[in-house]
Amino acid sequence: MSNGQALEASLRGRLKRSSARRVLVGDRVKLEFHDDSSVTIEEIYPRTSLLKRRNPGEKRGAREVAANLDQVLTVGAVADPQWDQQLMNRFIVVAEASDLPVTVVINKIDLRSEPEKLASVFRTVGYEVLLTSATENVGIDELRHVLEGKISLFNGPTGVGKSSLLNAVQPGLRLRTAEVSARTRSGRHTTVSAEMLPLDRGGFVVDTPGLRDIGLWGIDPGDVADAFPEIARASVNCRFDNCRHVAEPDCSVLAGCEDGTIDPHRVESYQKFLAEAERASRHWE
Ligand code: GDP
Ligand code: ZN
Repeated sequence: MSNGQALEASLRGRLKRSSARRVLVGDRVKLEFHDDSSVTIEEIYPRTSLLKRRNPGEKRGAREVAANLDQVLTVGAVADPQWDQQLMNRFIVVAEASDLPVTVVINKIDLRSEPEKLASVFRTVGYEVLLTSATENVGIDELRHVLEGKISLFNGPTGVGKSSLLNAVQPGLRLRTAEVSARTRSGRHTTVSAEMLPLDRGGFVVDTPGLRDIGLWGIDPGDVADAFPEIARASVNCRFDNCRHVAEPDCSVLAGCEDGTIDPHRVESYQKFLAEAERASRHWE
């Protein structure tokens, strides 16, 4: 509730049967309080955003993950685990595909010098980049500021320091949890444990177990380029409207790689994800 109180509510019959609507973490709902002290969810209010991911592997279709997020923070580490730009790009694409603003966080800067080199690639694209050390308390004030008043979700590979950053932002944050119980489409009753962690300075961090590692995600081939802002920008000048930016003549994305205005590793990631998306969509047909 808006006063921060957690309460248990069940879905009203109509919503329960509706296959189109599933209550997600982050949803705003209309509650009704009954005489027998039970509480029901009467309505799910329209969502300002919807983070989706493709059903992994064999299954077709997307799975809705969280509603009303304001932003995604994609976290990587300069080392331990080894910096992997392509993996970062995957996590960023997940957010971009749902049209969510992304901030890049490069953590563990205490372990390696010159983290700015890693950051500049993303800054050139237009992303805000924070350089942090959760253990040395570097960049944590800036992180607090980015989170303030917003509903945020952290993604990124395991071990890069997402939990540590949360704890640095607000010690003990992860202890305050709320449970959301939802009925799945198949009708089985499962408890999805999702947390909206309230921040002292306003805003929430959404945490759902198993979600922080999403990233390996299928996306419609036609949407892959749009998830790379610099590629989408350059592509308006490609000779062909349907240019795939792989080997086409007069491709302004490939030209950008040549003249150094576009990072070739980002384009490499794009081409790899495009090939994956094309393989996946063939598989579904
Ligand atoms: P998560 O899987 O992304 O949530 O990562 P954790 O927060 O569990 O951190 C993984 C490991 O990295 C832990 O041993 C942390 O102590 C360590 N760690 C986290 N942040 C930093 C950092 O800024 N610098 C260093 N040197 N280690 C860190
Ligand atoms: Zn092109």
